[in-house]
Amino acid sequence: MSQARMVSIEQRILAKNDGLAKENRRWLAERGILALNLVSSPGAGKTTLLVRTIEALKARVPVSVIEGDQQTSFDAERIRSAGAPALQINTGKGCHLDALMVGQALTRLAPPVESVLLIENVGNLVCPAAFDLGEKAKVVVLSVTEGDDKPLKYPDMFAAASLMLINKTDLLPYVDFNMEKAIDFALRVNPALAVIAVSATTGAGLDAWLDWVHAHLDKARAVCRLPAGTGTDGES
Ligand code: MG
Repeated sequence: MSQARMVSIEQRILAKNDGLAKENRRWLAERGILALNLVSSPGAGKTTLLVRTIEALKARVPVSVIEGDQQTSFDAERIRSAGAPALQINTGKGCHLDALMVGQALTRLAPPVESVLLIENVGNLVCPAAFDLGEKAKVVVLSVTEGDDKPLKYPDMFAAASLMLINKTDLLPYVDFNMEKAIDFALRVNPALAVIAVSATTGAGLDAWLDWVHAHLDKARAVCRLPAGTGTDGES
């Protein structure tokens, strides 16, 4: 296949995805649902972070989760054990979730009005950057075991994200990771990026992350067009 033809097919796929993402975004906004798209390398600790987040939020805010992995439903099972409804999507050979998958998952999950929807994307820092799912924000999780140069090696992802969570800070004494350098690199790519350092294992920094979620949920709720308690299909 010629280079030009490949580029043209890619552009059409992305344009179709953007249209569906816009639909998802409208659907979520009407319901005052805050949707966050969590992206990272494999093993950065997204699922552990989600479990801790659900445990902290669930008494006050309903949380639902869409889990993306190539295979298995291990992560959805962990999320359900933490007390949140979760839908696992297996992408097979695919390296990312897309807006069609998320739209179909929304119909099946039916998250309540004014709730939080956490989307755990397939672990890699490349493809998920290009695919809008209709989320309010991408949250990139960078763990200290990965190396502080990731933001410059994979700039698209850090440019697309609104927040960077630097995770596994409890392991800082054991690894060669320069926190200032990682933040500096990330801000070079995206000067507007918010940064919070956390340890999903010890709980350090999680309050700042939860405050960030609450602040964005308040904004999502402010534009909700349906009364609280309304079913997700718009009927009581
Ligand atoms: Mg996971």
